[in-house]
Amino acid sequence: MATKYETVIGLEIHAELSTDSKLFCNCKTTFGADSNTQTCPICLGMPGVLPVLNKRALEFAIKAALAMNCKIAQFSKFDRKNYFYPDLPKGYQISQYSLPLSYEGYLEYEFDGEIKRCGVTRVHLEEDAGKLVHEGVTNNPNISHVDFNRSCVPLIEIVGEPDLRSPAEAIAFWRAVKEVLEYLGVSDCNMEEGSYRCDANISLRPVGSEEYGTRTELKNQNSFRNVQAALEYEEKRQAKILDEGGEVIQETRLFDVEREVTRSMRQKEEAHDYRYFPEPDLVPIEVDERWVTEIHSTLPELPMYRRQRFVKEYQIPEYDASFLTATRQMADYYEECVKLSHDPKTCSNWIMVDLSSLLNDAGQSIEECKVTPKHLNDMIKMIKSGAISGKIGKTVLEEIFVSGKTPQQVVQEKGLIQISDESEIEDIIEQVITANPKPVQQYREGKKKVIGFLVGQVMKLTKGKANPRLVNKIFQEKLGG
Ligand code: ADP
Ligand code: ZN
Ligand code: MG
Repeated sequence: MATKYETVIGLEIHAELSTDSKLFCNCKTTFGADSNTQTCPICLGMPGVLPVLNKRALEFAIKAALAMNCKIAQFSKFDRKNYFYPDLPKGYQISQYSLPLSYEGYLEYEFDGEIKRCGVTRVHLEEDAGKLVHEGVTNNPNISHVDFNRSCVPLIEIVGEPDLRSPAEAIAFWRAVKEVLEYLGVSDCNMEEGSYRCDANISLRPVGSEEYGTRTELKNQNSFRNVQAALEYEEKRQAKILDEGGEVIQETRLFDVEREVTRSMRQKEEAHDYRYFPEPDLVPIEVDERWVTEIHSTLPELPMYRRQRFVKEYQIPEYDASFLTATRQMADYYEECVKLSHDPKTCSNWIMVDLSSLLNDAGQSIEECKVTPKHLNDMIKMIKSGAISGKIGKTVLEEIFVSGKTPQQVVQEKGLIQISDESEIEDIIEQVITANPKPVQQYREGKKKVIGFLVGQVMKLTKGKANPRLVNKIFQEKLGG
């Protein structure tokens, strides 16, 4: 894109909170339940009902706000955001407008090998709307149904400052926020289920200009790829308009995934269009300072910092550190292993390669894994002491993964102890030499590569249990180096 303009992007991120019940009633929030089975008069918006705030949702919102370095308002309140839509039975959404729960924060994230900082204007609480179901309801394409299960599910909105300077940077920030919320355990951020989405605002301004240009907004996106593509398209579209001396119109645009273009949806929507006013059925929120301190003390080390610490403290490559800190549970698991073995790189290798492939194949996460850090460490110790070979180690790991037995048990039950008895190995080598006169002759004539074949024969006869170092040594002695 032309260097004449600077891109300015600000994100409004929505995340559904992982509470068991909804924001203002006791209905369940489980995803995927049959339509309208998780509803009650409150979340259906019947007149005369009284919403009551879910304390857990408030706690989660405060936790997220603190992780984004926000100040927590001692006094905040809910407002009604009025608009008409079929999935919004009340005709308004309960949100926070004039006095939000938190404000003036920021989040650090990595982009292009650098640590960047994006301001967070506010993190506030609101309720989600229902969902229109257009497909698979009846055979009539003109009929849509509405499912209110999602109505009143707690959401936080994280309003980012317009501090992002490219589509790729915006995605890096959006990913970083997701990672943080997952680490905190306040949202599962499942994008396919719509629990993590964003509105992306973008404008251009001449390089060097202080003033922001007119922005367009891309609504309700839930894919990293699509947001990036949509923003890149907007960058070009706006640049062209400006190049031609035109003016960008402030509007909401939709991204057409198939054709990779954005299209105007509606123009200029402002706060006054919503006729915000205070929600009269909910008491304002007064947060106890001690409670905030308590929540603050439960914040985990955030993923970016943990990743950096892993590289420094354990001397492992960036790649390993990223992999191992991808989830908090994985990072905890890894640190448990290192604590036991004092061998960070060996632990990392076993987890990243062998254990991960077992987890992947079984569709399991590390929390469900039967291989405990102690199992892994005991197995690594057996390899180091020469009791089993590295190759047998893989077999042992597979067995523990299925049965949850200790490595000692597995090795004993399956007779996997490495053969390190020289005379026993010598006997087998004699057999192999006798049975393979031709390769032996080739070896003696200088074709050293055949040693691989001969060693392989020994391993076959011992089911991989012969100590490879000894096998090689004895072959050398018998056949010459
Ligand atoms: P609303 O969308 O409710 O009107 P704001 O006007 O405060 O709210 O802005 C919402 C989002 O738009 C914020 O994330 C902010 O960073 C971003 N934003 C505001 N102005 C611009 C701009 N000129 N260019 C790009 N993003 C912007
Ligand atoms: Zn309900
Ligand atoms: Mg907006």
